[in-house]
Amino acid sequence: MKFGGTSVADIGRIRNVAHHVKREVDAGHEVAVVVSAMSGATDRLVKWCEEALKERRIFDAREYDAVVATGEQVTAGLLAITLQDLNINARSWQGWQLPILTSDTHGSARILDVNGDELIRRFKERKEVAVVAGFQGLHKETGRITTLGRGGSDTSAVAIAAAIHAERCDIYTDVDGVYTTDPRVVPRARRLERVAFEEMLELASLGAKVMQVRSVELGMVHNVRIFVRSSFDRPQDIVPHGNPPGTLICDEDEIMEKQTVTGIAFSRDEAQISIRQVQDKPGVAAAIFGPLADANINVDMIVQNVSSDGKTTDLTFTVPAADYQRSLDTIAKAKQAIGYARLDGATDVAKISVIGIGMRSHAGVAAQAFSALAERSINIRAITTSEIKFSLLIDAAFTELAVRTLHALYGLDKAA
Ligand code: ASP
Ligand code: MG
Repeated sequence: MKFGGTSVADIGRIRNVAHHVKREVDAGHEVAVVVSAMSGATDRLVKWCEEALKERRIFDAREYDAVVATGEQVTAGLLAITLQDLNINARSWQGWQLPILTSDTHGSARILDVNGDELIRRFKERKEVAVVAGFQGLHKETGRITTLGRGGSDTSAVAIAAAIHAERCDIYTDVDGVYTTDPRVVPRARRLERVAFEEMLELASLGAKVMQVRSVELGMVHNVRIFVRSSFDRPQDIVPHGNPPGTLICDEDEIMEKQTVTGIAFSRDEAQISIRQVQDKPGVAAAIFGPLADANINVDMIVQNVSSDGKTTDLTFTVPAADYQRSLDTIAKAKQAIGYARLDGATDVAKISVIGIGMRSHAGVAAQAFSALAERSINIRAITTSEIKFSLLIDAAFTELAVRTLHALYGLDKAA
């Protein structure tokens, strides 16, 4: 069971979590709980780190981790106290105590190994609930505390579920599942009963903010069934062994009715860059994308077409909006090597992505979208496709219209 920041926001909410745990324990389950920091706590800790600097611009990432890992330590201890108060045998664990071993990439470390043996032993011998601090781990060689990147408690939960061979990893959050798209944009969005790991990976990477991308990756690798459900349901209203509302993220073999399109994700955090009249010769793409890669800029969509002069080529690509200026500077610096006439760009663009494993076996799915958007006079600036998704770059002003249009087009609207 994993509970996020809003689910443990104060002592009252932590007590509510304890009742959820008690319900599962009473139903005969062996339980490990992973908790986030109380909502706002991690932001405050990050801010303190920033305020602590006066002369330098960058802080020591190892010390940043020492600070920000404390948020989860507090909630783990508090939840153990609350569980004990309900007469449940429980103890808290910090990442270094299990241990949860990670890489040494402080601030965004990757989990390498989790030892679940001691937890399993204690389930059996003492019926002890394990309360584990999410988000943190240990780098073995240096002995230092690491953190997994923002939202990392999801990943802790899935890693622990794998280590103890859990039947399921329940992610309790402030929504009751994964939706076909953001319900704030499309009120007729539907909750998905099931979604395949691959689809969820695309949804999460492309803008749906339900879960940290790495947690889904890890679930896919270890085949951990992940159940996204609401922590706002009252513990006493939930029937043990029942069928609570939520979304199961699982292997596609567990999904009987495969939809062609499962969901639509969108992101306004994109920027478009166009390099005009580039010479059409070998090595040019390398001259452009090499320096961007060296600058650690993630290029996403790439489109190449003939320039208006008919002799040269135009190259258009997208980068994260946060890297827009840096990308322009990087290209400008490489102008000699690339050889181009003009550099254009825009940040008022949005990427709309349509996802579904059924696309593998259906032709013409994207073509339907092109005509539907054309009917609404929405211009498509760039397109990319892969086996189970396609993405379209459009003017940001049309984001909502485009998402609603496609949501209806692929039959995702729930009945009115
Ligand atoms: N507390 C951390 C954060 O706010 C980790 C998490 O909640 O998943 O990013
Ligand atoms: Mg989260």
